[in-house]
Amino acid sequence: MEHIVIIGNGISGVTAARHIRKLSDKKITIISGETDYFFSRTALMYVYMGHMKFEHTQPYESWFWKKNRIELKKGFVSKVNHEQNELVFQNGETLSYDKLILAVGSKPNKFGWPGQDLDGVMGMYHKQDLQNLEKYAPDNTACKRAVIVGGGLIGIELAEMLHSRHIPVTFLVRESSFWNGVLPAGESAMINREILDNHIDLRLGVNLKEIVADENGKAKGIVIAETDEFIECDVVGLTAGVSPNVDFLRESGIELGRGIKVNRYLETNIPNIYAIGDCAEQHEAIGSRRPIEAVWYTGRMMGETVAQTICGNRIQYKPGHWFNSAKFIDIEYQTYGWVWAKPKEGTSQFYWEHPNGKKCIHLNYETDSRKFIGINTFGIRMRHEIFDRWLNEEQTVEHILEHLKDANFDPEFYKQYESEIVSKFNQENNTSIKVKAKSWKRIFSRV
Ligand SMILES: Cc1cc2nc3c(=O)[nH]c(=O)nc-3n(C[C@H](O)[C@H](O)[C@H](O)COP(=O)(O)OP(=O)(O)OC[C@H]3O[C@@H](n4cnc5c(N)ncnc54)[C@H](O)[C@@H]3O)c2cc1C
Repeated sequence: MEHIVIIGNGISGVTAARHIRKLSDKKITIISGETDYFFSRTALMYVYMGHMKFEHTQPYESWFWKKNRIELKKGFVSKVNHEQNELVFQNGETLSYDKLILAVGSKPNKFGWPGQDLDGVMGMYHKQDLQNLEKYAPDNTACKRAVIVGGGLIGIELAEMLHSRHIPVTFLVRESSFWNGVLPAGESAMINREILDNHIDLRLGVNLKEIVADENGKAKGIVIAETDEFIECDVVGLTAGVSPNVDFLRESGIELGRGIKVNRYLETNIPNIYAIGDCAEQHEAIGSRRPIEAVWYTGRMMGETVAQTICGNRIQYKPGHWFNSAKFIDIEYQTYGWVWAKPKEGTSQFYWEHPNGKKCIHLNYETDSRKFIGINTFGIRMRHEIFDRWLNEEQTVEHILEHLKDANFDPEFYKQYESEIVSKFNQENNTSIKVKAKSWKRIFSRV
């Protein structure tokens, strides 16, 4: 019986295993050095914040694996010998495979900062990081201050986590405004304010110079490169992005770039080896998407795709339109299609912000054809499937505004802002768009 071995028990590896089992009788083994069972990485923050126990982040009961004949093996693979179809573990054990799926995820970036491996210094990615956080930052007596280095989605989550335990936080952000490589100026400024409103000491435009140790080899503070200011702290969180976890593959003969190079079928240069999830890097980006996408749902889609290919139905990975969602402390964020941080030539933008400074929408469209390209929404929930449909239909910006009520996901009793949004657009563009009433028929009709 063909043996499919998957390295990595995250969303991509586990989705691949589940779908291979649905489609076939193949022998399946999943390996992970991190945990016995699959858990939701995106829920780690809620464990520290006390909203759930770690066990609650595991979507499947422990009997699920046996029932579905998916073998689980704990251990770190240190080498792939593709000529022998064999894996070597750190402890010297070996395991043979017929087909191998690399679903090894990411690791937090470290840029060679002095002191980056001291006790009390951690990323926020693995379960072990959470354990370290519990050890070094259980409360504001043991941890009088934490410094977070790197302003992105994970950095702001870590700030919120520490803040929930009343631990003072200094947040070092290299850019001149929060996440402004991704967010346009209005949204980025809104999140700067949200961070400051939560009494987090946000330092923009600064870099870490070094982390200073106490006499026991534990972090006792950091120095800012630009000013040489010393900030005393007990914990340092390194959240300056992530990169594919591929160091153990450097000598393997598997083609690597930043990640594991794959074609549209998620195949590597070695015929029976595939790569999916955060670690996979497309040879050529798909449309405007990035060659590496470290997000949950794309890992799941790649897992489903590779399962089909492995079970004889070779299909291409087609992620569709880009979307993403996150939370910046109390402000929910959704994005559909593309709203670039810096407008591209031939495109126009429309930005509306609520006077309370905690809600906005930002539309992007082609100036001449009026074709809708994308939307950011902050503090207002919108329906994913509606925007996906509008992007497929290549609707105009006027159509989007006219039917904006159909996209609003918030229950009826929440205040809706469509009229204010559209009247601002009309004023700025000299148009006379009228907002149509919400239509359930339109919302649920198929195209
Ligand atoms: C704090 C946090 C919050 C996030 N929030 C969001 C969010 O809101 N929305 C979103 O879309 N995405 C979010 N992400 C990103 C998302 O979690 C990842 O994109 C996704 O989990 C990646 O899944 P994966 O299967 O590719 O890899 P992973 O989940 O990283 O799994 C890979 C597994 O392989 C193991 N492994 C690696 N190498 C080896 C080896 N040599 N031997 C054995 N085992 C190995 C690793 O230890 C790990 O367990 C978040 C990530 C973090 C860290």
